[in-house]
Amino acid sequence: MSKLVVANWKMNPQSKKEAETILSNISKTFKNIKTTELVVCLPFPFLYIKDKIKNKKIKIGSQDVFYEKEGSYTGEVSTSMLKTFGVEYVIVGHSERRSIGDTNSIVNKKIIATLKSKMQVILCIGESERDVNGFYLSFIKKQIEEGLADVLKSQMKSIVVAYEPIWAIGSSAKREAEPSEFVEIRIFIKKIISDLYDIKTANSLRIIYGGSVNPLNAESFIKEGGASGLLVGRDSLNPKKFSAIISVSK
Ligand code: PEP
Repeated sequence: MSKLVVANWKMNPQSKKEAETILSNISKTFKNIKTTELVVCLPFPFLYIKDKIKNKKIKIGSQDVFYEKEGSYTGEVSTSMLKTFGVEYVIVGHSERRSIGDTNSIVNKKIIATLKSKMQVILCIGESERDVNGFYLSFIKKQIEEGLADVLKSQMKSIVVAYEPIWAIGSSAKREAEPSEFVEIRIFIKKIISDLYDIKTANSLRIIYGGSVNPLNAESFIKEGGASGLLVGRDSLNPKKFSAIISVSK
């Protein structure tokens, strides 16, 4: 299966002109790459750009969604709205959303709504610290079990799990994660999924890595870590660096 590379632009850039330029530069270099699936998760106001890019292989994602269908929910965005913009993937449970209120139960409602609308879910999980007693493992287990409550086995093909340790994310990251740390969690996630569903579901689940991915470490998470792909924050806004990441993600 081809590797999945997801760009998470977060609340960047600040103008549509910049957004169009970055995406068109990414699109140019992605032209020659055949094997990688590329999803760019844009801020809501920039979702229209999908229609402007010539490279139709680039898929568009959103960084969040609301779980109600429609109505009096000021500031929220529904799954139907996303679909009209051609959104195929939705990030749910990013740590930056969890830190401003998304509980596992809210994450679960968003996942159910996204699946109902036939879009793919990128479920983000990850601990804030690695304690020596291994409590981070039960924290991750809870995120997965509660996040996937009532998700059917048949729907699991529309789920991607992104392991993003909070301590390795963003410009305030404590340190970079090691590929071996990803291996540990990847196996742990598979065990949880196997217990919840079955081994076949666990083996076909795509588990990607995110947290300070850059052109120098990207390949090691794929090759040594066995990641099905990468979720890239900061470096996805730099077409040169992002293209380098994409080209090693095979
Ligand atoms: C993220 O927050 O999803 C992320 C991966 O960010 P960065 O690559 O900047 O650490």
